[in-house]
Amino acid sequence: MKLNKYYDDLKDSYLFHTVAVKTAEYAKTHPDKKIIKLGIGDVTRPLPAACVEAMKAACDEQLTVAGFKGYGPYEGFDFLREAIADYYAERGVSVAAHEIFVSDGAKSDIGNILDLFDRDNTVLVPDPVYPVYVDTNVMCGRKVLYARADEKNGFLPMPDEAVSADLIYICSPNNPTGAAYTKEALKEWVKYAKEHNALILYDAAYEAFVTDPALSRSIFEIDGGRDCSIEFCSFSKNAGFTGVRCGYCVLPDELVINGKKLSDMWLRRQSTRYNGAPYIIQRGAAAVFSKEGQAQAAENLAYYKKNAQTIGKCLDGLGIYYTGGVNSPYIWLKCPDNMGSWEFFDLLLNECQVVGTPGEGFGECGKGFFRLTSFNTHENTAEAAERITRRFAK
Ligand code: PLP
Repeated sequence: MKLNKYYDDLKDSYLFHTVAVKTAEYAKTHPDKKIIKLGIGDVTRPLPAACVEAMKAACDEQLTVAGFKGYGPYEGFDFLREAIADYYAERGVSVAAHEIFVSDGAKSDIGNILDLFDRDNTVLVPDPVYPVYVDTNVMCGRKVLYARADEKNGFLPMPDEAVSADLIYICSPNNPTGAAYTKEALKEWVKYAKEHNALILYDAAYEAFVTDPALSRSIFEIDGGRDCSIEFCSFSKNAGFTGVRCGYCVLPDELVINGKKLSDMWLRRQSTRYNGAPYIIQRGAAAVFSKEGQAQAAENLAYYKKNAQTIGKCLDGLGIYYTGGVNSPYIWLKCPDNMGSWEFFDLLLNECQVVGTPGEGFGECGKGFFRLTSFNTHENTAEAAERITRRFAK
């Protein structure tokens, strides 16, 4: 018996564990202190009522012979695929329903899509990075290159002609940095991908947070994007489906490599290993696109955005450099006084009782940076901002 040797190459991630242990220790030794967690990576607002109503109705359908659903289509029900296509169309983006593949979330798709590609391909990921991009490639022994994201490029690395990659991960708005590419910048990536016969794996999990029209919400907004990109989307962040689980990816018809259509390969892959997202959940997801669903989801997004604004204003007042916060739930800040990420973590916990996430947990380039999120309440976020202001005001 031989095991997958590449698992030995995975780096253990102690980031969230260490954060939890340090926070618990502090809480135990300081029971009188109120700790505010701005490291929360999960959404906290309840589901849009329209989604819950739709799921309840779909449950009731299961009580009748006529309404009962067994196995569904591997690629998702047409009602949801059409609703997603309409959502793209509203933004002037042309995506056909048959190019959309529904799943249990973007994380699964991002990992599973790698089944389509040879191990010998080279992968380019940004640093700092959502760790799933790296680990899913390391698990199958693929070579990973890093595109340096730093203060100089505003944490939005651009293509480097000297680097040759086959698979390019772009996450915009980005986790963890909150930085988002403009359409102009993405044109450069599309140009690079086409020139190098590379494929862009575009993670649009946070597209709903984008309000600035200069920023991109889909790689398919870019001319030529359809020729070289797969897009991954999720109902987790726009509608709070992190626990419900639903997402989708888009494989345009144009993606044909060595005579093979990628969407055919993906359907073959999904129909072999996956039996489709549950009907009840897909009804809930479709309700996100109803008038009520859109309004309710927008309320939650506005709630998080207000928190991001509160944190942003606090950092502006202190003159601390940061990215994100406007078109993203994440704020990525430079630790004051040249502190290291963990040094700042300890100081913030001990002196302000505020918990965030040390940037170096997301990669080398995260050293000296720190992630705060907007998923706590208005009250707690405002209090945390006040404490930080009091501590760091010069
Ligand atoms: N992509 C990014 C960049 C994320 O940050 C996350 C979750 O935090 C996901 C994908 C996962 O989305 P899902 O809940 O649909 O699996």
